[in-house]
Amino acid sequence: MFNYSDKHILITGGAKGIGREIARQFLVAGGQVSLVDRDEAALQQTVLDLAQGDQQIKGFVADISDQQEVEDTIRQVEQQAPIDVVINNAGICPIKSFMEIDADTWQQTLDVNLSGTFYVCQAVARYMIPRKRGVILNMSSKNGLDAELGHAHYNASKAGVILLTKTIAIELAHLGIRANAICPGYIRTPLNYEVDSPEFVQQFAERYVPIERVGKVQEIAPIFLFLASEGATYINGQTFVLDGGQLAGQKPWPTLLKAMYPSAPK
Ligand code: NAP
Repeated sequence: MFNYSDKHILITGGAKGIGREIARQFLVAGGQVSLVDRDEAALQQTVLDLAQGDQQIKGFVADISDQQEVEDTIRQVEQQAPIDVVINNAGICPIKSFMEIDADTWQQTLDVNLSGTFYVCQAVARYMIPRKRGVILNMSSKNGLDAELGHAHYNASKAGVILLTKTIAIELAHLGIRANAICPGYIRTPLNYEVDSPEFVQQFAERYVPIERVGKVQEIAPIFLFLASEGATYINGQTFVLDGGQLAGQKPWPTLLKAMYPSAPK
């Protein structure tokens, strides 16, 4: 469906979860993919797994919350080929009640999710601007638009990503660069495997998600391929929510839903 055969895509946090699947789908579409991740072992494994055939993929170990590391890494990635698309996907989500959030947790979350995204956007834009072309796609979250308990630091960081993205969109559009933000709901990935049991996930979906299940990485990656494509050249500064309907409105009370759809198939 998409053809990325002449494009170089940089994905941060690409060693696992959603980033890994985005990488896989861009590779299938013929793209050259560079992954940046701090988890060296997972990064090596992902590059090995996805490099089957003649896929062009390379891993770079870096911590995006370190601005100097970001500058050095982006220089190396650019030496492979000019970056056409950057996907700021790396993020962390330590869960703590508002009253338990210590200064370190607050700072780390903001450093990775918001400052790290800013560092990468700026470093890549420096190369994109003289070429007058480029696409920036920033991973926010449903939590960037709507508060979730236990996530004050995460919610604040992801809300920041949305406004950062919109500002880039209005400032750099005249230089041929588009920027958009993507806001997934609950997606099953290594970020939450260890924290949430399957029973919890099932109950969560039944309680909050109109589609009544959580999302899969395969359902998030395609929007990145679309937004970076020639079909999306007039889409700029927008925020896309992929959450099974969670933010559309209150999930109907099952008793009322059943009363209105008594013969609905189970
Ligand atoms: P994941 O499975 O934990 O993968 C994220 C990858 O990014 C990991 O390899 C992680 O390494 C890496 N990373 C974290 N901090 C980094 C840093 N400072 N520098 C470089 N790499 C770093 O996460 P995911 O669930 O796929 O989430 C990906 C993105 O989507 C995140 O921004 C997340 O906030 C967002 N998101 C996720 C969900 C969801 O339900 N999963 C929903 C909405 C939004 P470590 O393992 O060492 O941390």
